[in-house]
Amino acid sequence: MTLDISKIRADFPILHQQVNGKPLIYFDNAATTQRPQQVIDRENEFSLKINGNIHRATHYLANKTTEAYENSREILRNFINAAETAEVLFTHGTTESINLVAHSFGEAFINAGDEVIISEMEHHANIVPWQMMCARRGAKIVVLPFSNDGILKINLLDQLITDKTRILAVTHVSNSLGTVNPIAELINRAHLKNIPVLVDGAQGAPHYTIDVQKLDCDFYAFSGHKMYASTGIGVLYGKRKWLDQMPPFLGGGEMIDKVTFSKTTYNELPYKFEAGTPHYIGAIGFAAAIDYSTNLDSSQIHHHECNLLSHATSLLKNIEGLTIYGEAPEKAGVISFNIAGVHPFDLGTLLNQMGIAVRTGRLCADPVMDHFGVENMVRASFALYNTSEEIEAFYTALVRLKAMF
Ligand code: PLP
Repeated sequence: MTLDISKIRADFPILHQQVNGKPLIYFDNAATTQRPQQVIDRENEFSLKINGNIHRATHYLANKTTEAYENSREILRNFINAAETAEVLFTHGTTESINLVAHSFGEAFINAGDEVIISEMEHHANIVPWQMMCARRGAKIVVLPFSNDGILKINLLDQLITDKTRILAVTHVSNSLGTVNPIAELINRAHLKNIPVLVDGAQGAPHYTIDVQKLDCDFYAFSGHKMYASTGIGVLYGKRKWLDQMPPFLGGGEMIDKVTFSKTTYNELPYKFEAGTPHYIGAIGFAAAIDYSTNLDSSQIHHHECNLLSHATSLLKNIEGLTIYGEAPEKAGVISFNIAGVHPFDLGTLLNQMGIAVRTGRLCADPVMDHFGVENMVRASFALYNTSEEIEAFYTALVRLKAMF
């Protein structure tokens, strides 16, 4: 049975509208994806009938919400095949997940003179938290570069790892180049030298099956809103052996065992890292989004997204003066490009007038812009509800706009 895209599209109400008098073509999925009715309904059900702050009361509403929140954690655990729910922390998203690790792992394990390896293709969310931590602890960032076609030079890793290295933090899939990094191999190489690995899975978890036990990663961070759930909810997977040794990130309610003015003891995992009221309705919606996508055939979705990417790539290559950034053999549905003589912001604005939503700018990846010596790029990114017809309309629009300049 093939994937019925029109049936899938029917689940996403936002797609069925006109923008500037044209049918919306939404190609900004790497920034955020849209939500199916099933996720909206699940969240609304809790907002309308079942809302109660979790873990803190004995009443009906709080009990129902607590139960749904903890069930959602189990659904997320199962999704990434973590060994236990205690290793699945709800956060506000990938950014908070990485800040949590940079802060708490840094406090526990990083000292003056130590080194943290990140790659040249990281999103700012996997650069800045490490820089902040390094500044506090007197440590240093070391960068694993990529080649001009957007492939990490992983053979350099063995040289970059020294006796000062404390952690490797690397993206699963680049949000600007689309490159799918060989994270299993990176983890393996780092582990051979006893270096733990954090994987930024913001663009990986939406498109690939994640088995954290098989990968043996130490941390894996991802966001709900990039995989058909709401904003403000994400997950940090962490191995218990690290989480147990790391101090809390934020202090407040829920993360404590006992508070006195002289001393506070902390709650068990995962609550030690979930201070304050979490976005529990978002977590419940996140689980509904996971149910939604796992009910579809993942190999067919993958096949569909690969087809969209190769169709778009071969069409865009026909446009004279168009440069695609990132041509790794294994890419997710992301194409970043520029057209010579056309400012990316003009392109984005004019495409918007034709109802086409793309991203323009620095893509939260300044080092990638610097690598290619450009100020900005245009990025089209695809999700399971996009179609070949939309790709063709996008191509036609680009050809028309190119002719205008
Ligand atoms: N890492 C990557 C690779 C991303 O693409 C993004 C968002 O675009 C992030 C991290 C940050 O995710 P969030 O804004 O959901 O925290």
